[in-house]
Amino acid sequence: MRTGKWDARIQRANDLASTHAFASQGLRFYERLARFQQSLYAEIETECCTGNEKRLSGTLRGECDFFILLPRFATFVSVLEEIAPSPLARAAHALRLQDASRWRQILLEFWEQCPAVANLQPAEELVSWLFLQPYAEYLADHSEWHPRNGTASTCPLCGSKPQVGALRPEGDGGKRSLICSLCAMEWDYGRIACAACGEEDPQKLPLYIASEFSYVRVEACESCHRYIKTVDLTKNGHAVPVVDELALIPLDLWAAERGYQKIRPNLLGV
Ligand SMILES: [Zn+2]
Ligand SMILES: [Zn+2]
Repeated sequence: MRTGKWDARIQRANDLASTHAFASQGLRFYERLARFQQSLYAEIETECCTGNEKRLSGTLRGECDFFILLPRFATFVSVLEEIAPSPLARAAHALRLQDASRWRQILLEFWEQCPAVANLQPAEELVSWLFLQPYAEYLADHSEWHPRNGTASTCPLCGSKPQVGALRPEGDGGKRSLICSLCAMEWDYGRIACAACGEEDPQKLPLYIASEFSYVRVEACESCHRYIKTVDLTKNGHAVPVVDELALIPLDLWAAERGYQKIRPNLLGV
C-alpha cells in the first residue's frame, strides 16, 4: 500500500488549519476529502494490482476502469454533500440524484477531454477531478515509463497542468519540479522558466515572497500573465506542497491584485 502520502497530507492539513485561521475552513474540508481519497486509493489498489505496468508518456488517460470507479461514485458525492462548502455540497446533492449512466458520461468527459472541458458545468468538472485524483494517482504510482526529453509545462504522464511547484534539496541548492494537478506525479522543470509558457527571461519572471511565509513564493510571468506557487522544501522540510499551496491564500490575493491568473486553480477554487 502506498497510502502513507495521504497520511502526510492529512496531518499537514490538520497542522496548518490550527495555525492559519484564514485558511482553516478550506483545510478542514481538504483533510476530510483526503481521508476519503486515501480509502478510495487503497480500494483501487486492492482491486487492481500492486505491480507496475509499462506506459508511454502522455497515455495515462487512455484507460479508465468504470467497473471499479462507478460503484463508488454515489458514496463519494454523499460524502461531499456532507463535508464540502455549501456551493459544492449543493452540486454534489444534484449529482447524487442523477443516474449512473449520467455519472459515467460526466466522468468520461472529464477524463478524456480535460483540460479542454467544453460541456461540463464547473461543479461537475470539480467533482470529477476530486473523484478521479486517487485513480489517476494509482495509475501514475504503478507506471513504468520513460520520460520524454526536455521539460514540459504539462504532466508528462497524463497531460494535466501543474498544481504547485517544489524546490527540493540537491547539492548546495534546490532542484525545481512541478506537481501534477491530477495524478500527483512530479517532474523536473527548469529552475528559471515560466511553468505555463516556458518564458526564460529572468526580467519577465517576477517572484513574490511574503516575509511571514518565506518558504513559499509566487512565480509569475509577464509574458503570459500566469503564476504558480512554489514550495521551497530546502527552507521548510515539514511542508507538503499540495497542502501548503492550499493554505497560503494571501499569496493568491497578491497575484490576483496584479492581474496574474493561476495556471491551475486549486480545489478550493483559488
Ligand atoms: Zn499527471
Ligand atoms: Zn509565461
